[in-house]
Amino acid sequence: MLDRELKKIEGLEVLRNVSLATLTTFRIGGPARYLVLPGTVTALEKALLFFKEKELSFRILGQGSNLLVSEQGEEIVLSLRHMKGIQMTQGAVIIEAGCRLSRLIAWALSHSLAGTEGLCGIPASIGGALFMNAGTNSLSMGGLASRALLTGPGESHWVPVEKLGLGYRKSHLPPGQIVSAVEIPLDTRVPRERGDGQGPSSMGSALVPSSARSIRQRIRRIMGKRISTQPLGQPSPGCVFKNPTECPAGKLIEDCGLKGISVGDAAISEIHANFVINRGSAT
Ligand SMILES: Cc1cc2nc3c(=O)[nH]c(=O)nc-3n(C[C@H](O)[C@H](O)[C@H](O)COP(=O)(O)OP(=O)(O)OC[C@H]3O[C@@H](n4cnc5c(N)ncnc54)[C@H](O)[C@@H]3O)c2cc1C
Repeated sequence: MLDRELKKIEGLEVLRNVSLATLTTFRIGGPARYLVLPGTVTALEKALLFFKEKELSFRILGQGSNLLVSEQGEEIVLSLRHMKGIQMTQGAVIIEAGCRLSRLIAWALSHSLAGTEGLCGIPASIGGALFMNAGTNSLSMGGLASRALLTGPGESHWVPVEKLGLGYRKSHLPPGQIVSAVEIPLDTRVPRERGDGQGPSSMGSALVPSSARSIRQRIRRIMGKRISTQPLGQPSPGCVFKNPTECPAGKLIEDCGLKGISVGDAAISEIHANFVINRGSAT
């Protein structure tokens, strides 16, 4: 049995027949026959080597917030959710790919470090956020990170983000490589607040010391806007369409009178027309 062989790898947990609907924000999808959970980069390297040697294909699951999974499910799914460490080093913070973005933002707040607030409210793992280059108009993950630890079969190496082909919600990782950690620069020179409540002037390209009060204020403001403009209480994968340059996709859909229209339990949100929501049993 595959799981018996995989379990011989130290630091690797393997679960069988796990519903992927429960692991995605859309709440759609069949089971993963094998959910493979490495706890360390070494275990991940070994698992990838195993898959390569056995010619097994697999999917990578982050926080499952940008996925529509087939009802048939998947054979092998790799989740890095046990790899969630945050480590402060000289001049940088290293975050393992399975760490949630929300956890990083809370950690930065607890250390009075500004810079991540522009990403708050995006449900993502650090690895998924870099792979998708998740972000908003003010900040993207690629704009914050300096390097990524890429892991392939039996090896890992650090790569500058400029080499990852990051663009608008996309990346081009070398084939067979997975993001296993991300580095964000840490600038400990005390910056001056801009005085307009927008944060330190270097916000976005590094973590910088700031007052916890002002960081909290920015988080509250950004979250308040999200809560009032997005259907956060309903299962969805967030915005479905990329924005064309001329006009936000949600406005185009709304202008076509499509808000609220549904096929089965899949509906275009009444609150934000670029969100497709699952009213219960969408497939
Ligand atoms: C309510 C809501 C609001 C959202 N708002 C935003 C927003 O403002 N801006 C935005 O950009 N997105 C937004 N999203 C979409 C989503 O949060 C992002 O796309 C996010 O980056 C997905 O990260 P994830 O960890 O959930 O990845 P998943 O959805 O699990 O996976 C997405 C892709 O990344 C790959 N992947 C995951 N982890 C890794 C890894 N470690 N290495 C290599 N590949 C990997 C997966 O294989 C898959 O192809 C929103 C979603 C929701 C539900």
